[in-house]
Amino acid sequence: MSLVIDNAKFHEIIQEQIAKQKHDHTETKFNHKIYRTIIKKVKRKIRRQVVARKRDEQIQIEEDQRSKDPLYQAGLAQQEEIQKKKELEEEKEKKCQLWHERELLAKIQWEAKQKREQAAKIQQQQQAKTVHALSTKTSNLKIKSTRTSASKIQIEKEKPTAVIGQQLEDQPTHNPFASGIAGIERPKCSFFLKTGVCKYNERCSRFHDRPDVSNTILLLNMYSNFEMQYGLDDEYDADIGLEFEESERYQNFKEFYYDVLPEFEAFGHVVEFKVCSNFEIHLRGNVYVQFKTDDEAVRAFQRMNGRFYGGKMLQCEFVNITNWKNSICGM
Ligand SMILES: [Zn+2]
Repeated sequence: MSLVIDNAKFHEIIQEQIAKQKHDHTETKFNHKIYRTIIKKVKRKIRRQVVARKRDEQIQIEEDQRSKDPLYQAGLAQQEEIQKKKELEEEKEKKCQLWHERELLAKIQWEAKQKREQAAKIQQQQQAKTVHALSTKTSNLKIKSTRTSASKIQIEKEKPTAVIGQQLEDQPTHNPFASGIAGIERPKCSFFLKTGVCKYNERCSRFHDRPDVSNTILLLNMYSNFEMQYGLDDEYDADIGLEFEESERYQNFKEFYYDVLPEFEAFGHVVEFKVCSNFEIHLRGNVYVQFKTDDEAVRAFQRMNGRFYGGKMLQCEFVNITNWKNSICGM
C-alpha cells in the first residue's frame, strides 16, 4: 500500500516525538538509533491511520453502492417494516398494560365504593330503626290523642242533634226520627241523595241510599281553615267570619286545592273535585272527588281512608251524587 504523507506534517510529528523522548528520558543520551526508532514508530502510526481511513472510505463506497441497489432497497424497506411492526406491537403491549392498570384501579375504586355504600346502608338501616322506634312512640301518643279528640268530636256532633231533637218535639218540620219498624219501605232522604250526608245521620227516618261502590268518594271534614276551625269551637260567633279576610280564605283554599288534588289525580282521572264550605257540622269541609271510573275511586278509597291529613284521620265514604248543581256545596 502506497503511503503519501505531508512532509511538513510528518516533520512536525517527528519533532514532537523527539522532544517527548528527551523530556521523558533525561538519563539516556539521545542518539541516531533512538531517532530511527521514533521515525519507524511514527511511520507505523501514520500507516495505521491511513489504513483505517481507507477502510472507512471503502465501507462508505460499498454503502453508497448498496443504497442504489433495488434489492438492497427492498431489504431495507422490509427491515423498516419489521421495525415498525415491532414498535406497533410494543405500543399495543404498552396500551394493554396501561388498560390493565386502569382496570385494576377501577376495580379497587369500585370495591371501595361498594364498601362505602354498604357502610352507608348499614348506617341508614340503623337510623331507620331509630326513627321507627321514635315514630312508634309518637304514634302511640297520637293514637291516644286521636282517641281523645275523636270522643270530643262525637260530643260536638251530638250537641246540635240534641238541640234539633228538642225543637222537633215542638214542631216536626223535618223528617221524624226512624220508627224502627223493620220491613216498611222508607222514602229516600233527599238531603242524603244530594250530599251523601244527612245531619240526622242514622237517626233519619228517611232511607239513606248508601252505595257499596261508586265513582265518587267523600272525605268527611277533610278541609279546614282558621274560620272553620274556630267556628267548630264557637259556631254562633258571627264576628269571626268578618275578621277572617276573604283573600285569606281564598289563599287557604288554593293551598289546600294544590296540595290535595294531585294526591287524588294519582289514582286516576278526577272529573269533579268539590270542597264544601258550608258551616253545618255534617257538611263542613267535606271533600267530594268524582273519578271517571269506580276502580279509580276504589283505589283512592283504599289508599286515603285512615290516612292522616292536617292533623285529622281521613274518613272516606262512597257516595252517589248524580247532580252537582243540586248539592248545596259551593267552591
Ligand atoms: Zn237523612
